[in-house]
Order: sequence, then C-alpha cells, then structure tokens
Amino acid sequence: MASSVTQDNQAYGMLSDRTRRRMTDRLRQQGIQDERVLTAMAEVPRHAFVDQALATRAYDDVSLPIGHGQTISQPFTVARMTEILFTGRKPGKVLEIGTGCGYQTAVLLKMGAEVYSIERLGALLDKARRNLRAAKLVHARLVHGDGHLGLPEAAPFEGIIMTAAARNIPEALVEQMAEGGRLIMPIGDGEQHLWLLEKTSQGLQKTRLDPVKFVPLLPGRG
Ligand code: SAH
Repeated sequence: MASSVTQDNQAYGMLSDRTRRRMTDRLRQQGIQDERVLTAMAEVPRHAFVDQALATRAYDDVSLPIGHGQTISQPFTVARMTEILFTGRKPGKVLEIGTGCGYQTAVLLKMGAEVYSIERLGALLDKARRNLRAAKLVHARLVHGDGHLGLPEAAPFEGIIMTAAARNIPEALVEQMAEGGRLIMPIGDGEQHLWLLEKTSQGLQKTRLDPVKFVPLLPGRG
C-alpha cells in the first residue's frame, strides 16, 4: 500500500505542471482560446487517467487506449468540445455520455460544472471512479447505463457532451436539453463529424463542425 502511494507520488512529480503547460501552450497554438478550458486542462493530471505504461505519452496530442477496446480522446478534441459547450456561458448542469477513464469528466468538474456522466461498461466506470478519486475530483454523479436514454431524472441539462459516435441523434437527449442548451456530439459511421445542437425558442439548430474519429456509441449496458 505505502509503496504504491510512493510510486504514484513520484509519477505525479515527474509529469509535472511544466509538462501540462507545454500541452496547453500547444492547445492555444491550435486555436483553443477559452482560458477556463486551458486552466482546467493545465490542472487535471491527465497521466493519472491512463495506464502507468502510457503515462509518459499522456500529454502528447494523441488518443490512447484505456482498456475494453475504448480510447481517451486526444487533448485537442477534449479542449475543443469543452470550449464549444461553454462558449459565452457559465458551466451549468452537464450530462456526459461515455465516461471512459473519466478524464473529460475531470475537466468539466474543474471548470465548475455540475456533472452527470453515463458509461455503459461497469468496469470502465469503476476505473473512472478510482481515477477521479485519485485526482480529488469526487463530485460527479457517475451512472452505469445506456447513454441513448440520457438521464431523465436529472434533466434538463444546459450542456450534453457525448464522447462516442452515434449514427443519429438520440431523441431522448434532445428532449433533455434545457432551452438555450447545447449538445455536442460526434455523428457518423465511418466518416464522423462533430455536431453542435442548440435548443432555441425557434427550434433545434444544428451545425456540422470538425471531422473526428471516436469509438462507436453502442446499445445497452456491458
Ligand atoms: N470521455 C472519455 C472517452 C471514452 S471513449 C474519456 O475521457 O476517457 C467513449 C466511451 O463511451 C467508452 O468508454 C464507451 O464504453 C462509452 N459508451 C459507448 N456507448 C455508450 C452508451 N450507449 N452509453 C454510455 N456510454 C457508452
């Protein structure tokens, strides 16, 4: 027990603030402007959300395996989706679909959002819970379930962020958006794009954004 804590501390020390600063400098050069996003990503220890063998690559701009055939998104994609979700507004109540290792959840929490996050794989949800606890971010409500259904008992949400690619927009999620709310998600089978949906008094506005590559949104729980 004591020795694993020591190892963790050493890893935290090695992959320090400076490494994260380099990542956020690069994100800034890539066009991320929201200082709240950059500050949150400068604070969350991304290396603590991946397996120790991959920790040295945690700050490279790549997606990495997190087990169970799933991946943690590259830092630019996390930053871009978070920025789009919160542009011009305070982070309010947010639903995340696809908790994975919990890194995106951690960034949302650091920004002060009230976070609900759904993951279909119980084993990954446990991993996310451990990772978030190690990072001292314990306020997310983590739910083992199928994100297609959203979380009606906690709706409406000012923001919904999906980190797995769907073939179409799940109707339940549109219903659970607050008026003025935003939903950001990858859509596509093979070729994928990020889409931003905004619920306005005139209806749902849909905007197609960057080409992306996400693992698929799958039905049911595992
Ligand atoms: N945000 C995550 C990305 C994980 S990859 C991170 O930072 O690590 C996408 C995740 O979506 C996977 O963990 C996968 O199991 C999950 N997923 C796929 N289909 C789902 C569904 N219908 N409901 C909830 N989670 C789902």
